[in-house]
Amino acid sequence: MDYEVIKKPESKEIKPAPNLGDYEKARREVKWVDVATDLDWFGDGKINIAYEAVDRHIHSHRKNKLAFVWEGKDGTIEKYSFYELSRASNKFANVLLTLGVEKGDRVFIFLERVPELFISALGTLKIGAIIGPLFSAFGPDAVKDRLLDSGSKVLITSPQLKSKIEDILEDLPDLERIVIVNRDGEEVELGDKGVNYEEEMTEASEDFDIVKTDKDDYAIMHYTSGTTGKPKGVVHAHEAVVGHYATSKYVLDLQENDIYWCTADPGWVTGTSYGMFGPWSNGVTQIIYEGGFNAKKWYHIIENYRVTVWYTAPTAIRMLMKFGDELPKKFDMRSLRYACSVGEPLNPEAVIWGETAIGIPFHDNWWQTETGCQMIANYPVQDIKPGSMGRPFPGIYPAILDDSYKELPPGSEGHLALKAGWPSMFRTYWNKEDMYNSRFQDGWYITGDKAKMDEDGYFWFVGRADDVINTAGHLVGPFEVESSLIEHPAVAEAGVIGKPDPIVMEVIKAFVSLKEGYTPSDELKHDIQKFVKKKLSSAAYPREIEFLDSLPKTRSGKIMRRLLKARELGLPEGDTSTLEE
Ligand code: ATP
Ligand code: MG
Repeated sequence: MDYEVIKKPESKEIKPAPNLGDYEKARREVKWVDVATDLDWFGDGKINIAYEAVDRHIHSHRKNKLAFVWEGKDGTIEKYSFYELSRASNKFANVLLTLGVEKGDRVFIFLERVPELFISALGTLKIGAIIGPLFSAFGPDAVKDRLLDSGSKVLITSPQLKSKIEDILEDLPDLERIVIVNRDGEEVELGDKGVNYEEEMTEASEDFDIVKTDKDDYAIMHYTSGTTGKPKGVVHAHEAVVGHYATSKYVLDLQENDIYWCTADPGWVTGTSYGMFGPWSNGVTQIIYEGGFNAKKWYHIIENYRVTVWYTAPTAIRMLMKFGDELPKKFDMRSLRYACSVGEPLNPEAVIWGETAIGIPFHDNWWQTETGCQMIANYPVQDIKPGSMGRPFPGIYPAILDDSYKELPPGSEGHLALKAGWPSMFRTYWNKEDMYNSRFQDGWYITGDKAKMDEDGYFWFVGRADDVINTAGHLVGPFEVESSLIEHPAVAEAGVIGKPDPIVMEVIKAFVSLKEGYTPSDELKHDIQKFVKKKLSSAAYPREIEFLDSLPKTRSGKIMRRLLKARELGLPEGDTSTLEE
């Protein structure tokens, strides 16, 4: 692509000095076993995520440091120090014990982004049970699928959210107790399974002997985003915190005095790996905002809390772009020193927009629910090639493989695979052991994404293996076409699919939403087509364009191309439990 490289700053110019000063050296020398020794391991080789993230700090200078500042949708502010978070989660661990919850049981959390979500997640980990955070926006069927599949014993929810799923509660044979967090103090009907969170917490002791779990004991369950099919229950073990810790330190560059804001909800893996365990295991203060996307509010949060490091997603960045370059200029964003993005390919346009509109470029990084932590990333001390996901995290060995799992040379497109065996690698797909095993070949974990690596070792995303388009003998990655579409001044978002065609196998069809002030017309269609043809090639331009008000997305903000395709072809829509309204 015709984007200029964003040259790395001289490392002495970066203030504060980045944690990863010499990328090449780290790649040569760093070993996971050495990184792991930064954590406590209880001094005896056992490890519990909640201990590494929170409890260990209360024996240090960080005892009274703020773990988080929470701002509710209504403007309420609550603050928790590491000490307070440790005590509150101890209490919740005791509550779970009285409910008969044991190590290995599944405890699912269906709450808004309120402090109790974080407290109950940590408390659950402390007794060695497995957490399963769910998006509060989920409807009854999405909740039911996940509770049934996981055999969850306890559900933690609020009166409002419980009333949304009342009808499914009878259909869950494994569900024994429903803990109700009643922040508004309204009158609630507990029912026979119900437990009053506030009452139990008042009575519970603040002292708890955290369960010393083994590194391989299961800790976290996340259902994947459902972009390519029915969500899978990805299971992570306590050792994952080694990956959360290391990448938060070297990719997010989190440092002692940072004020860090991750916009992801814990219903998505980014909201736990980097909205809880990564930053907290580094002892860093987080901002947690209960509300969703709102351009003005978001800029205000950065200004108001003096946010220094910001982690968000391409869909949010594209929405901010839609609101224009002038809006961020009305806020004081000078506190921001570093910004990262994950979840979908980050269009080069968006990387550059960061530089011009908010003063720093977005650093893209690539990973999956299955990988547990960032695998390929851009770093403060490396040049950014806009549109590239960056280079491997030290200790991670990705490669591009052909269909028989042989490594391909630089420049070739193929399956993105990772040498199996890093600390936060998933341990299974719940109830789908065969599917889990099928993802490993010859010592590689096959990610399901297609990519290529250039001569400098930068990785470039091509598309989901299923989404790559075969048109007139050319393989075209949807990302490339989408990126060039959104460079057109009228285009806000684009999703591209291959549509079966008797002659050329597939034709490229683009679904496009427009920026404010533009209206759909045939003329605009032709203009966009001409624009892309000029940028890419005559093979890669979308033969068909359809305008939509907005594109169907998952809760984690990913464009659901499979849904666009199913609708286009009149096929069944498949699992839509993660579809955003
Ligand atoms: P499902 O597995 O249910 O289809 P999903 O793969 O979208 O859903 P996640 O684990 O949340 O679920 O997302 C991981 C995927 O997101 C990656 O495999 C990749 O396709 C995409 N992705 C994440 N970050 C990036 C990135 N920086 N660039 C390109 N793609 C990315
Ligand atoms: Mg996936």
